[in-house]
Amino acid sequence: MTFSFLSRPTWVVLFSVLTLSACGNESTKAVPKTAKIKQSEATLTQNTDWAKHGNSDFEERFSTLNQINSANVGDLGLSWYIDLLGDSGQEATPLVVNGVMYTTSAWSHVYALNPITGEQLWHFDPKVSKTVAVKGCCGPVNRGLAYSDGKLFIGAFDGRLIAINAKTGKLVWETQTVDTTQNYTITGAPRIANGKVFIGNGGAEFGVRGYVSAYDQDTGEMRWRFYTTPGDPSKPQENPIHNETVKTWSGEFWKLGGGATAWDSMAYDPELNLLFVGTGNSSPWNPRIRTQGKGDNLFVSSILALNADTGSYVWHYQTTPQDGWDYTATQHMILADLDIKGETRKVIMQAPKNGFFYVLDRTNGNYISAENYVPVTWAEGIDDNGRPIINPAAKYWEQDKPVLVTPAWTGGHNWHPMSYSKKTGLVYIPAHEMSFPYFDDKEFDINNPLSLAVNLGVDVAPASFPDNPEVIKAIKAGTKGHLSAWDPVAQKEVWRVQYDGPWNGGVLSTAGDLVFQGSAAGFVNAYNATSGEKLWEFPAQTGVVAPPITYQINGEQYITVSVGWGGIFPRMTGPMTQISNSDPVNRSRLMTFKLNGKARLPETQGTLRAMQTLDEIEFDATMAKAGHADYERYCAGCHGTGAVGGGVVPDLRYSAAITTSAGFSAIVSDGVLASRGMVGFKKELSPERIEALRHFVIDRNKFAHSIGDTQRTSR
Ligand code: CA
Repeated sequence: MTFSFLSRPTWVVLFSVLTLSACGNESTKAVPKTAKIKQSEATLTQNTDWAKHGNSDFEERFSTLNQINSANVGDLGLSWYIDLLGDSGQEATPLVVNGVMYTTSAWSHVYALNPITGEQLWHFDPKVSKTVAVKGCCGPVNRGLAYSDGKLFIGAFDGRLIAINAKTGKLVWETQTVDTTQNYTITGAPRIANGKVFIGNGGAEFGVRGYVSAYDQDTGEMRWRFYTTPGDPSKPQENPIHNETVKTWSGEFWKLGGGATAWDSMAYDPELNLLFVGTGNSSPWNPRIRTQGKGDNLFVSSILALNADTGSYVWHYQTTPQDGWDYTATQHMILADLDIKGETRKVIMQAPKNGFFYVLDRTNGNYISAENYVPVTWAEGIDDNGRPIINPAAKYWEQDKPVLVTPAWTGGHNWHPMSYSKKTGLVYIPAHEMSFPYFDDKEFDINNPLSLAVNLGVDVAPASFPDNPEVIKAIKAGTKGHLSAWDPVAQKEVWRVQYDGPWNGGVLSTAGDLVFQGSAAGFVNAYNATSGEKLWEFPAQTGVVAPPITYQINGEQYITVSVGWGGIFPRMTGPMTQISNSDPVNRSRLMTFKLNGKARLPETQGTLRAMQTLDEIEFDATMAKAGHADYERYCAGCHGTGAVGGGVVPDLRYSAAITTSAGFSAIVSDGVLASRGMVGFKKELSPERIEALRHFVIDRNKFAHSIGDTQRTSR
């Protein structure tokens, strides 16, 4: 493909003119200081464990525990911490079952711990090959386990579903759930019902077809599989519903995978015996390439309801028909029974990436209501039938210029779990405010899709930032995050906590009138659940993205959270990750707090190092320009757009490897660091193209040095 650097004026145009009119309002909203109390404390039966991913089948992430409460949370202190393996982002929800804590860390490590002391009872390493890292869009992270009948279940990053004896930490069975010749990975937590373990997978940025499968929890045998997109129309469809859905696709879509991967959220309703599955974006993103710009492309970006016993289709609701913007509906889904217009409705709630908060009838998928919880430009609203009114100006695939769309592909809300307080009736949403310049990749070759590159049909180079600190500053200023307390019945925000940057942690709410959330800026925070007033904070020494949990043992309540900066935002978004003065780095730990806890974290060393200058190195500006497009396709997904590292994966601008052709080629072509996750790209890239990549990174080093930029290190 061809590429030319966007000059400063181009970016100013992009930033100021192409912004679509927002139907959201970013200005400060009126904030009532108290929310209506929906249920008295006495009616809530206390549970002292955290035995399921979302604490209950309804995935509320609400605890009835109230020993730690808004009156005494100021006395909360660190009780214990342990270091976790895998410095690439910690996203897990720990479980506490029958007096034992179980959790996971990056690279699918599993731990059993004494929940009072943090003492390790056992550790299980599934030994995932580091060479699989390149198949994942967003790092070898893991979001947690399922527990049933003395066994733990984990979806390992390399696609295996593994059952472990909870007492001994020994393998019970394992089964490969994916075609390992394709770019499938697993990061989400399994769910369990009626003796079956449910698991999906990811890979829609790399040309795979999504599905969710059920395995016998005792034997590991597959019981059913439901594909989330139709297959090749010339062959029989595996699931009968796809004889219908195939009519919503055009062209040779099956050759490119289709996507709709179920990489995170599920929920199970025992009364309806329905398994709800959130599906991801299409593959590739660009509808012109994927489906000739036609049709809804079922079931991309949808909530699916399946019969949990058979895996057969029951209903679906598509949040973003045809989805061209990576607006996955894999975000956390919460089940609740809400009073709406005088009627108790069994609902399912979701705030998918597309920026709208949905309330649906979970018995049949009927639309009840939706409002945008962040500014939105891709749609003008949702019509009475629950279909978005799409803004034609957001269809970048029909245009010859980049189009700035809100939310960005990072979403108004990503995987970070929400929480629904049964006490306040509010849903607490970890929201992001970001935009992205989508640009149709005119040279995408449908017959030769790239194998180890982010395979989007979108040219991401325009997002890689110009040589202009003022524009970078302006874009950073528009990149924010907040915690939104959302009334799902009235569909409006009750209060918000504004953060400087996006990518803050998942949420826990408790009957102690508290909401807990970690932040990208490196704090674990507690807020008053009805007012949003900050009541407590703890410096975690690293960005926090995982959701906290709580449990009570021997009459004492604890709060636990994994900390460790990571995920797609710090990996890919380059300069945007340098949020205010926080400069998050990865330090991977599990922390537990209790009232009057007295443990201390070790002192940290400085995290900023001055950028080295490479003035003496031979450098060719023409080659640097030529290397930019390959950099953005092959490298930016991990090392950051514009070669700006985000505190997780090495910042290449600072790497000694860029100083010589031979050293750079040994890593990038031959793969000498494959055992650490950096595979070689010999098959994909010629020596000339790899040398051009090196010059591009040298160019970025020179620019960074010229503006006094610094790089972060976790050591
Ligand atoms: Ca995606």
